[in-house]
Amino acid sequence: MPWCEPCDRYLSPNAVSVVGTCPKCGERVTDTDGEPADSQKVPWHFWLFVGAAGIYLGWRQWILLLFPQVLIL
Ligand SMILES: [Zn+2]
Repeated sequence: MPWCEPCDRYLSPNAVSVVGTCPKCGERVTDTDGEPADSQKVPWHFWLFVGAAGIYLGWRQWILLLFPQVLIL
């Protein structure tokens, strides 16, 4: 369970920011064992989205290069 020292309260693991800081005060959050709380893992669908966006943008670039008259995509 992540614990925020300055706020003096427990945080739900989902409330801890991606870099492992408190959303309220911005301090590093420690776990109950005293270790810094693990950074929240980037969800897999984030990378899926990044990949899809990359493929789409690359594909769009190619279409625009090959068919410059097709501007509405
Ligand atoms: Zn805090």
